[in-house]
Order: sequence, then structure tokens, then C-alpha cells
Amino acid sequence: MKKRWLKGIILGLGLAFLFNSCLNFRPAKTIVREPETPGESTIEYKVPSPPSLNLLSIAGPMLSWRGLGGKVSKVCEGVYLAQSFGIANMAMVETNEGLVIIDSLENPESAKEVMERFRKISDKPVKYLIYTHGHGDHTQGSSAVYELGEEVIASKNFLKFVNFETKEIGDYLRRARDTQSGRRAFEYQRVKLPMSPKDIVRAGIGTPEIVMPTITFDGYYEFELGGEKFELFEAPGETPDTIFIWLPKKRVLFCGDDYYMSFPNLSSPMLGPRPIAGWISSLEKAIVLKPAYLVPGHSEAIIGEDKVREVLTNYHAGVKSVYDQTIACINQGKTVEEAVRIVKLPEDLAKLKYLQEYYGRVDWSVRGIYQGAIGWYDGNGVNLVPLPSSYRAKELVKLAGGADKILARAIELQKAGEDQLAIELCEVVIQANPNDKTAHIIKAVSLEKMAMNADNLNKLGFYLSASQMEFQAGGYKER
Ligand SMILES: [Zn+2]
Repeated sequence: MKKRWLKGIILGLGLAFLFNSCLNFRPAKTIVREPETPGESTIEYKVPSPPSLNLLSIAGPMLSWRGLGGKVSKVCEGVYLAQSFGIANMAMVETNEGLVIIDSLENPESAKEVMERFRKISDKPVKYLIYTHGHGDHTQGSSAVYELGEEVIASKNFLKFVNFETKEIGDYLRRARDTQSGRRAFEYQRVKLPMSPKDIVRAGIGTPEIVMPTITFDGYYEFELGGEKFELFEAPGETPDTIFIWLPKKRVLFCGDDYYMSFPNLSSPMLGPRPIAGWISSLEKAIVLKPAYLVPGHSEAIIGEDKVREVLTNYHAGVKSVYDQTIACINQGKTVEEAVRIVKLPEDLAKLKYLQEYYGRVDWSVRGIYQGAIGWYDGNGVNLVPLPSSYRAKELVKLAGGADKILARAIELQKAGEDQLAIELCEVVIQANPNDKTAHIIKAVSLEKMAMNADNLNKLGFYLSASQMEFQAGGYKER
């Protein structure tokens, strides 16, 4: 296993280096333009060549989540796990009377590929398809799995959750998912990545029809097939509709996305609050079951009772610690900014491979917990009925002696590697005058650098999208 991981990293690094070194060399462009709108900056800005991806930071999550091509592995007798055919995992339980399939990836093509591989192991009929939760990367491939006469099981909350995500806020969510995966205004992307945006996240694209459940349940549901008992119970965490699937005889627990190899995405930056208190108790339930095998919705299965207990105990401790520390900060009257600086994973947990912040982040979690627990007003009078931000920005631009002065400083900061401050200054100019193209382009360049140095998959996607949207607003296209 270790060898495969190492080989993967070396191959991934090599490939990506090749891509970057071949494609990223371009001469710098200088923006010189007459102002098109009153107040637009006249400053000259030499647009630097696009940066390369800082591979070491992102190689880990890339390989652990998507691997290097699909593989089907045997977890234990009769239980098989398909990884890296899509974003998520798909699993099969073989019984004497037929098959149970767990989850269905993000599109029918990927799910079909997995089913063909499963069919090499068993040609028994599929009797049940079970959704661990309603996220697209676990459900949108369902039409390729579903066969007439088959039961499809999910929790009752699944219906509400899927309706909310795909219909009620569907238009927003498609945009949000594109933003998260680095696809917004993709035609303005200058950098080359070792993986296509399609590979980063394919969920949300086109949104194929989801086969709706034929059986839904509240709390608990069980059935038997070929002498194998399947116990299903609600286990809110990544989503409010998440369920655990427990095979008591084999002691296999399918836990959906309540565990995967990364610090969990307790608060997804563009989504509503997640049931974190529920997540903590779901992990407690998982520990009590004493599984010998833990099969997650993403990343490798964990094998062996001791190992599963160790991983689940630490994972639970990590989530609970971040939650408790944040609530303590709120009670102590700390601001959200202070809480973000104070709350840290305990040192022993922060070292663990499966709690690295590849996908979720502690600071984003703190913001989510903080804002989910209390309202939006922080007690500072200036924030109660604020002016539109353009009012303040116009005043600041005037006080600074014009947009050029602010942007000159932003360029200095950008060169010094202070990209966050640089984009904050650009933002003042943009708020004062949304048509200031130079400000958009300077901001785009800093965001692009931030994307390429991201140590987290979602951070990479968000910054990349933000950068592309600024290049678009600045009317700057390089290819
Ligand atoms: Zn997932």
C-alpha cells in the first residue's frame, strides 16, 4: 500500500512538472490603457507569467482521493470497494440471493464502468441500491445501476435534502459547485493544472437524473438478503440525510462522508450550516458498533478493529475539539476573527495523516460553527446598519489621492508576496469603481498565485475561480 502511494506521488509530480514546464512559459504583457470610465486608474501594470502549481501541497489530496485510475478491492469476504472511478467510492455487497450496491458516483458513465467491473466478480441480480446521502457525487450515476424491480433505499431526509439542493437553491448551487471546483469563467484560466477541471470535480455538471428511493425511513430500517442482515440508521454529519449501513455479521460499517481521509469539511464555504453536533454523535455511534471494517464515501477503507477504533476515536476527538473550542470562544466574547486565530487542532491530532486539512479546514469550520450558532450581528455598532460598501470605498480612494495610489501599493505588496493585502486594496478600488479593469487584473494575478500555492483542494478551486472571474471583469484573456 505504501509503495503504491509513493509511486503515485512520484508519477503525479513528474506528470504535473512536465505539464507546467511545457505550457506555462509565456512573455509578460503590459496593460496600458486610456481610462474608459471616469476615475479609472491609468497605472501601468506588467502582467506576470502564470505561476506553476505548488505540487507538493496538493499531490496528497489529489492522489488519495482520485488515485491513478480506478481500482476495485476486496474489503472482506463478499464486500468490494470501487475507488477512483469518480469523485466518490462505490461499494458492492454480495449475498447468496443477490447484490446490494452502495452509492452510484456522480454520473452514469462512471457508475457503468464500476458496474462492469463488479459484474466480473458476480453476475447475481442487483436487489438494492442504497444512498449513503444525497450529494451528487453519490447519487447522479444511479440510472446506470438501477434495474427494474430493484429497491432503492435512502433516509426520509434524503427527499427534502435533494429537493432543496437541486430545486430550491439549484441555480445557486450549480454556480457554487462550479466556483468550488475552479470552473467559474474557465475560459479565462491562464494556469495549467495536471488534472483537468473535469477531474477535480465532476459533480454538478449537467446534473443527471437521480433515481428516487422506493423505500425511505426515519431513524432505523433493516432488511435481510441471502442470510446477511443490513441495519440502516440515520447518522447526520456531512449532510442532514446521511445514513450508516451496518453489516453486523461481517462487522462492516459504510459511513458515507461522515469519515474520509482529511479533516472534514465541517463548514463548506458556500453552503449552509452542516449538522456538526449530529456529526459528533454519529461518530460516537460508529465507535460503539466496534466495526472491523470501515468503508468511507471517499478514500481508502480502514481494516482491522483496532485501527478502525483508533481512526474513529481520533477523528471524533478532532471534530469535537474544534466545535467545543469555537463554542467556548463565543461564550468568552471573542470575535470570529479572534476565534479563527485561537482554535487549533490539538497537536497530537494535527499530525495524523487523516486529519490533514486537504479538503476541510479548521479555520473555515470555526467560521461555520460561529456563524451557525449565533446571528450575524457582532455587537459592534458599525456593523448594525452599514452603508453600501461603495460609499466607504469612494471616500477611501479620495483620501488616498486616487485609485492609482492604491493600486501602486497593491502591486508593491503583490511583489512582496502579501497577496491577501494586495487583493484587499484592489477591492477598495473595485468597490469604488467596478469598471476599473486594472484593479481587476492586479487582483486576478494575486488570486491566481494564491490558488497555485493552495494546500487544500477546495481552496485551490475557490481561488482559481475567483481569479478567472477577475480576469473576465478586467477583460483580460491570454489564450
Ligand atoms: Zn462525497
